[in-house]
Amino acid sequence: MKTPAVLKTRPILQKNGLSRVGIVGAGQLGRMMALAGYPLGLHSVFLDRGKNTPGAQVAETLIGELEDPGQLAALAARSDVLTFDWENISGKALAPLAHVACIRPPAAALEVSQDRLHEKALFTRLNIPVAPHRAVDDLAGLHEATRVLGFPGVLKTRRLGYDGKGQFVLRSSADVALAWDLLGGPGLIYERFLRFSREISIVGARSPAGRIVSYPLTANTHVGGVLRYSVAPYVNAKLERLAITYLRRVLKALTYVGVAAIEFFVVGGRLIANEMAPRVHNSGHWTIEGAVTSQFENHMRAICELPLGSTRALGHSAMINFLGGLPDRRRLLAIEGLAYHDYGKEPRPGRKVGHCTIQRPRATDRDEALAATLKLIEWT
Ligand code: AMP
Repeated sequence: MKTPAVLKTRPILQKNGLSRVGIVGAGQLGRMMALAGYPLGLHSVFLDRGKNTPGAQVAETLIGELEDPGQLAALAARSDVLTFDWENISGKALAPLAHVACIRPPAAALEVSQDRLHEKALFTRLNIPVAPHRAVDDLAGLHEATRVLGFPGVLKTRRLGYDGKGQFVLRSSADVALAWDLLGGPGLIYERFLRFSREISIVGARSPAGRIVSYPLTANTHVGGVLRYSVAPYVNAKLERLAITYLRRVLKALTYVGVAAIEFFVVGGRLIANEMAPRVHNSGHWTIEGAVTSQFENHMRAICELPLGSTRALGHSAMINFLGGLPDRRRLLAIEGLAYHDYGKEPRPGRKVGHCTIQRPRATDRDEALAATLKLIEWT
């Protein structure tokens, strides 16, 4: 049998603009960015540790450590602009690239969001409310923080915590020893546990010229710190105005370029900022089908200096994460207006392996469809 010829796609360097995007990390976020770039003539190349990544299935991938100076330089050499699927790249690793590549969002935005304490300090400096908190570096510091802030409270690692990892909820002084056993060490933060009525997020984009657009608010349901599902638009004019004001402050202060998200707790009609993501965000996945321009496309547009697209919602959407494994594709696709996204990942307990989005012209119909779809999904 004749071996079929392998068609190698090569990035096209356009003389009239940025068109080659280097993406650090080849997870599902990177994959959805790369896919959004193709129709615009933007070609992506990834850097990631292994070959079996969601991104490697859709674009060329350099294999190597994400902070390896040589690999980052190789990625930069093949790119007009560098961006991130994974935001925990240190400023130190990025510094040597500043002269050879355009880094978007800027390294300073990544750095501030890598440390919960610095992130909260930025919010506070910008007059954005945060939960009362204290840095904790030893057991005595934890006792002191619980004495000042009381119970319940959440002990979190300042760095590298995500999806509820690196967190422990303390209900009383009896939990202090266990919390310290599990997370103990320097570089922690203790914050008051907030009795919020809802968790919401705002996703927006800033262009290099300083134009800011934002999507309608999204309401998010987490279990064990992991996002299960989101609905959008979450209609509340007052909270939306506040969220937009806060987002604009953050994006401006960081001279940000690209898409970012801020997650908030709603407490007594106020917004308390929990954290920011200097990248596209899980709570914005509904925008692929549910908005005129998706968050992924707007990120690619922003970093490649193309005009930002409309963020208007098309009807009412619900996005459900697939955690641990994929649900029955045949049954889900039988639901009208459902879009199915398989990230091409190996199933593993708690792992985000895909999502689906349902869209309806009316919010009540969306809620009914969401309830019906949730019955078909098991989180493991
Ligand atoms: P995080 O990793 O900070 O985004 O936290 C993950 C989830 O844990 C949040 O979405 C909340 O559901 C919950 N959580 C985190 N911090 C607090 C807090 N201070 N009060 C109440 N719930 C919290």
